[in-house]
Amino acid sequence: MKKLELHWKILIGMLLGLVFGYGMTQLQGGETFVLNWIKPLGTIFIKLLKLIAIPLILASLIKGISDLKDISKFKNIGLRTILIYIGTTVIAITIGLVLVNILQPGNGISEETITKLTETYANNKGVTSKIAEATNQKNAGPLQFLEDMVPDNAMAAMSNNGLMLQVIFFAIFFGVSMLLIGEKKAEPLKNFFDSLNDVVLKMVDLIMLSAPIAVFALLANVVVSSSDPDLLLALLKYAGVVVVGLLLMIVFYCILVSVYTKKNPFWFLKQMSPAQLLAFSTSSSAATLPVTMERVEEHIGVDKEVSSFVLPVGATINMDGTSLYQGVAAVFIAQALSFDLTLADQLTIVLTALLASIGSAAVPGAGMVMLVIVLESIGFPADKLAIGLALIFAVDRPLDMCRTVVNVTGDATVSMMVAKSVGKLSKPNVKNWDDHLETVK
Ligand code: ASP
Repeated sequence: MKKLELHWKILIGMLLGLVFGYGMTQLQGGETFVLNWIKPLGTIFIKLLKLIAIPLILASLIKGISDLKDISKFKNIGLRTILIYIGTTVIAITIGLVLVNILQPGNGISEETITKLTETYANNKGVTSKIAEATNQKNAGPLQFLEDMVPDNAMAAMSNNGLMLQVIFFAIFFGVSMLLIGEKKAEPLKNFFDSLNDVVLKMVDLIMLSAPIAVFALLANVVVSSSDPDLLLALLKYAGVVVVGLLLMIVFYCILVSVYTKKNPFWFLKQMSPAQLLAFSTSSSAATLPVTMERVEEHIGVDKEVSSFVLPVGATINMDGTSLYQGVAAVFIAQALSFDLTLADQLTIVLTALLASIGSAAVPGAGMVMLVIVLESIGFPADKLAIGLALIFAVDRPLDMCRTVVNVTGDATVSMMVAKSVGKLSKPNVKNWDDHLETVK
């Protein structure tokens, strides 16, 4: 019998998780059961993925750079990556703004719903902590992000997943220096990082064996912890606008893949589907990164020299789904609370959402923190911020799941485009977890 493909297994796990989670909400003590006995399986899986993120970035980026025959190529890759990332993000925000202005989801929402949402969420810890976090980020100076990128201790940078850009900085610095000591001297280190890279990618294969069970646990947990279904329904139109925008972004990526790289977009989506499903289940592009890298390198054929730079950088600074959502959410809140927005305000949203996408962490719920900054940039009254966020809080988790899929797909698309532009898109070379099993049995 033909083995079921990984994305089908994951999809089945997700569906069973949804059904099981729903069943548990109907039973007394069901929620506690899920939290105590099911959720940990998902948490362990996410931890395993995060565990290998730093070694993977280090090994593949150092290996990628030290393979370059000339450093100017890296400059090309870097410049193109940043430019395309900015371009796709601006398009994402524009799609969001056009949709929210045409469909006006905030205008139909009743006073009663606003009061109910405010009462339920305005003092919720989720909302207040996001506002506090945003205030911290806002107080930073304009060059703070450059300062933050340079670590003062390599080991400290490597011991914190939130410091991914610092690790990238160190790896590039290290890789370039390796090039400069000459091929012969660099040989042992190159072999070391090459082999380390293969080992970590094998770890990804092994972790992915448990993905169907993990997504079952993750989704069951999302269902038991989700908000009152009535409140979800009240926000259906707003959520619908975000989801339509996100779907349009996926279509846009497919067009880019097909026109620019001449590959079949359905093939692209199929190869990326395990990473997309994980992005959906974990709501974190950072946790999904090892899988994204494995899929892009082995299943799509993007050379390590490109993927090892484009993907980790993308996971931290390129969030098309998040910025689209921020555009829609900001205008939705303004519409619902009758706060008039001028064209200049909307342009400000494009700019701040672009910067916010760079500044948002690749973890669940980060987009909402930066939304506070977007709202403040258009002069939204500070005393109403909590009410504004309360309006969208109930549907934030499901929308977070969807926008993370777009964030991950966007990174993969750009890596293919950059690879194509520098002649580094070749035939995929799929490796399975048990390729060498016979030799160690
Ligand atoms: N969860 C998103 C990500 O990790 C960020 C966000 O939109 O909240 O990509």
